[in-house]
Amino acid sequence: HKQVVLAAIPKGMPKVTDLRVEETETDVVVQPDSNDVAVKLLYISLDPYYRELMAEEDLLGLGLYKKGEPIYGGVVAEVVLSDNPDFQVGDTVLGNLNFSEYVVVPKGQDLIKVDASQVPASYYLGVLGMPGLTAWVGLKLIGKAKAGDQVFVTAAAGAVGQVVGQLAKVYGCRVVGSAGSDEKVKLLKTEFGFDDAYNYKTEADLDKALKRHLPNGIDIYFDNVGGETLDAVFKNVNMGARIVLCGAISQYNVAEDKRYGIKNLFSAVAKAVKMEGFLVGKYTAEHMGEYATEMSGYLKEGKVKYREHVTKGIENFPSAFAGLMTGENVGKSVLRV
Ligand code: NDP
Repeated sequence: HKQVVLAAIPKGMPKVTDLRVEETETDVVVQPDSNDVAVKLLYISLDPYYRELMAEEDLLGLGLYKKGEPIYGGVVAEVVLSDNPDFQVGDTVLGNLNFSEYVVVPKGQDLIKVDASQVPASYYLGVLGMPGLTAWVGLKLIGKAKAGDQVFVTAAAGAVGQVVGQLAKVYGCRVVGSAGSDEKVKLLKTEFGFDDAYNYKTEADLDKALKRHLPNGIDIYFDNVGGETLDAVFKNVNMGARIVLCGAISQYNVAEDKRYGIKNLFSAVAKAVKMEGFLVGKYTAEHMGEYATEMSGYLKEGKVKYREHVTKGIENFPSAFAGLMTGENVGKSVLRV
């Protein structure tokens, strides 16, 4: 069976050749009295943070991928062999595993059973999983969203952004999103119910774009991109605004000495802005259950819609990952193994 290996540490934008899909001879067996579980991967999540694990320096504190070894991350899988009373053959599980078509999980450690009878299994990698919880934590716990707030979110058509915008609508905010194509902008306004949206790639002046689309200023900025957009936001914040630092994808593929330097930070002083960064992992144990219950309700009632960008075949993982960094994905990017 096949697995995805880090071939080279990317320099700048990741290239298809920085990853390699190769055959592995590893046996898929479960020994008696081992408590082990063997799974077949169904879906692999494509997440921007993998780029940070392909680096020389461990900025996230999650450990780094090693050159020549399999890379790993969020997956949904099906149990195919089990010596563990907690897992039956046919169970659907969520895990953080090597991107290998089959994986033997010692003692079934850290696998979480999920119910794939009501929603597609892939939802646990997106709207009912890590990216969805990220949106909820950022908007509700950190941004303290309330009715009437003017909310702005970047990478708005992606995994996190689409949930941020729709949750903000449920909470009674006015929400504006920016994204990198006209197709995405249309999706935001028609499918996801954003009040307004624009294509940042065709705007000559980001400050003017914000003034046009958010004439009453910004109360919450959910920042997925950092850089120039974050800088323009400082010129448009209202008194007491909250800036939720979730990601900075515009800077992930830029060498340190070439990164964008923020010029308008003083607005944060003048407007008494609260800025807070976060990693969702810190909130999972305490809040995932509560979040999943709330979101399942919205999905059933049709208050939240969900869009996935599905790539088929593990051999296409390298191009799907490169595509995530250039905005080819419309919605949450997943790979169907
Ligand atoms: P997305 O589904 O949004 O995919 C990434 C998107 O980023 C692309 O589709 C592209 O959309 C956009 N993008 C790429 N390059 C640039 C650029 N130079 N400038 C602006 N936008 C760019 O990914 P996720 O929703 O999974 O992640 C969104 C952000 O949230 C990322 O920064 C990620 O690291 C962060 N994150 C943080 C977590 C945390 O715990 N803090 C947890 C999960 C995610 P477009 O066409 O619009 O350019």
